[in-house]
Amino acid sequence: MATSNKTIAFIGLGVMGYPMALNLRKGLDESHTLLICDVSSDALVRFQKDAEGHGKVNVVENGYEAIQKANTVITMLPDAKVVNKVYLDSKTGILAGAEHKFAESSGAEKQGNIIMECGTIETATILEVAKAVESSNVSQFVTFVDAPVSGGPMGAQDGTLAFMAGLSNKSIWPTVKGYLSYMGNASSIFLCGDIGSGTAFKVINNYLSAITSLAASEALNIGAKMGLNLELLTDVINVSGGQCWVTSKSNPVPGIQANVPSSRDYEGGFRIELCAKVLGMGSQLAEMVGAKTVLDKPTLEAFGEAMQDERYKGKDARVVYKWLNESGRE
Ligand code: NAD
Repeated sequence: MATSNKTIAFIGLGVMGYPMALNLRKGLDESHTLLICDVSSDALVRFQKDAEGHGKVNVVENGYEAIQKANTVITMLPDAKVVNKVYLDSKTGILAGAEHKFAESSGAEKQGNIIMECGTIETATILEVAKAVESSNVSQFVTFVDAPVSGGPMGAQDGTLAFMAGLSNKSIWPTVKGYLSYMGNASSIFLCGDIGSGTAFKVINNYLSAITSLAASEALNIGAKMGLNLELLTDVINVSGGQCWVTSKSNPVPGIQANVPSSRDYEGGFRIELCAKVLGMGSQLAEMVGAKTVLDKPTLEAFGEAMQDERYKGKDARVVYKWLNESGRE
């Protein structure tokens, strides 16, 4: 079967993947073909319409067909279960498709194939896929990359995402970075190390920002209960040892900073449920590598309690300030 290095596939046209794939299509020149795949036919139809005038877009059924027709497959999938299916299913998966393709092809087509997951997926699953690729008979032709993002739906739409990539075959990094630069800021695309390290960077950063969201909220709530001037307290913290991204860029106290979620009833930010999910992934990673942690469990408990209450559910994670402020000491 003929394949082309000018054919790229994108699987998973959801909240993040849809605008990423659209920016990729707009960035690639018209000699490239973009293949798209999703279980939602509505997303496929909408995408073809939105991409009109920006070059060829064709639909493929699954990962198996995608790798048959393209030498780069980018995926933006919701969770570990779907990643397992899309990559490792013996009938429809990317790896099975690659094995079939390379059994039939020869020469140049075999070189430089890239398969890349950009979602935030548990490290254990990323490593499971990596191991399956490495132990397959296509390992020398296919490189698996983990390249999770930060920047959220707005960053995906504006093409300003940050990418944290991990890959073991460093020689293909310039090609990978080239594709990512259509979807993110060139200055925020990082090669973090071997496969799995992109996900680890992402999860470790989120681990820290989840915990500092609670820590900063606790500190500012002490000031609130004492009736202190919280704007002045924030200014002092931000030139002192307590300063962090939460106090300086997304202050949890409503009205201290304009254009942050807390000042619009905690809407339009990083949902507390997602924040807790990635903190949990950080906890799992710590357990996997034998790193002692103290703050993850109480933070997860606090988030869990806030998330059960209709007043805080679905809001930006900094809503833990409001939860603390409206709770008694017990
Ligand atoms: P989403 O649920 O909106 O999108 C997932 C897409 O995958 C959907 O369109 C779904 O139909 C499709 N899909 C599911 N199973 C499939 C299959 N078997 N084959 C093909 N397509 C399939 O999720 P999202 O918000 O776009 O998040 C995607 C990933 O990005 C997640 O791993 C998430 O953790 C990560 N992420 C999300 C955000 C955010 O703010 N939404 C920010 C950073 C990272």
